[in-house]
Amino acid sequence: MPEITAKALNRPPLGLLLPPLLIALSVAFWWRYHPRPELPPMTEQALLRLAADTDFHNLDPTPAPLPWEHYTIAPGDYLTHLWKEQWQLPAATLYRLIETAEHGELLNRLRPGQHLEWRADSDGNLLALRLWENEARGYQWNLDADSIRARPLEKARTSHRVRITGVVQSSLGAALAAQPALAGAAGSVSAQLAELLPLGRQARRGDRFSVLVDVENLEGSERAYSAKLMGFDYQGARLRASAARFDDDRFYKPDGTSLLPSFWRYPYAQNLRYRISSPFNLHRHHPITGRISPHYGTDFAMPVGTAVEAPADGVVRRATRGALAGNYLVLDHGNGYQTRYMHLSKLLVHAGDTVEQGQVIADSGNTGRSTGPHLHYELRLNGRPVNAMEAALPTKGQLANDELTRFRNQYAAYFDFPAPGQGGTEVAGRAH
Ligand SMILES: [Zn+2]
Repeated sequence: MPEITAKALNRPPLGLLLPPLLIALSVAFWWRYHPRPELPPMTEQALLRLAADTDFHNLDPTPAPLPWEHYTIAPGDYLTHLWKEQWQLPAATLYRLIETAEHGELLNRLRPGQHLEWRADSDGNLLALRLWENEARGYQWNLDADSIRARPLEKARTSHRVRITGVVQSSLGAALAAQPALAGAAGSVSAQLAELLPLGRQARRGDRFSVLVDVENLEGSERAYSAKLMGFDYQGARLRASAARFDDDRFYKPDGTSLLPSFWRYPYAQNLRYRISSPFNLHRHHPITGRISPHYGTDFAMPVGTAVEAPADGVVRRATRGALAGNYLVLDHGNGYQTRYMHLSKLLVHAGDTVEQGQVIADSGNTGRSTGPHLHYELRLNGRPVNAMEAALPTKGQLANDELTRFRNQYAAYFDFPAPGQGGTEVAGRAH
């Protein structure tokens, strides 16, 4: 019968096994005749079965179901070993599960950290087995003498909205991590905030903040399973900003203006147009190597020293030099929008700087691997390069009348709207 393991098992060739076999025989001989060591502690099921077996007055012919038992797979665990030696379950049942049950093959691919639950009867027959593939999902197999039925498991989720207020001591991330209501999700909230709030180097000790977060919990767990940032209010020495998420999943300021600044199509003076010498093209032949190499940007033919302007407000993520890109800049504009500028002659901003739409950030040039003076301009949305000349750029500057009313009603308790009723920690709760 094959060994069923948590990991793949490598077997040495047979010839190599003979010397260790002799050693094993001597050890076995010693083992047989030396005093027995203490047995490992028995599981609750095994003890109850033992009790049932030795109770001669117990004539009940129907074996009783025993409580559920739990086990979390550890590195190096062998399921066959656990099954027979620790859990005292019949090996045949395991092979029957793996070979015949729907999704049974999952038992052949157990990973450390996965959780198993099982329930046997007082005769030692397995009644049900649950495998939690992750925190939220898994399968349950129900067994009887001639069938195994599989059903998917999914933990019920509850969601509640929390409002957290705090003061920055070292960083906003650290301040969020100290909040018990965000247990397990502070990093995610921090990352979502970083996309929207151009904090850069502008966070200061003593800055006040509040965040509104929809936290999801799995049934039976106190830890946050997921967290969705719904609003924030940051009042700092160098930066003040507040916004909340509307039905379209974008963030708007309390007065209804879009948090994401409007975007210019061209990253230079708006009264000028330069010729596009090489368009965005995912199947381009590279002009120097001749190989197919995607062109993730738009090349503008422009004389060295032309002013390059930020097409939208943002923060400078990178300002450095590369062998291929020459002097280059990366700007982050929030909401997943990022722009990149290459082959520059001169950088006029530093990493961490905040820039405004129309601010001159660099002079164009011909540095790095370049066939002539030009600006290589890239737009990325959520990490993916898109055609900057065709992409839908954020234009909704302001929520319209009905939308603004709806938005203000949704967040009346959060922002200082005329509507009264400043909520406590728990603004609203719901389950789904
Ligand atoms: Zn280019």
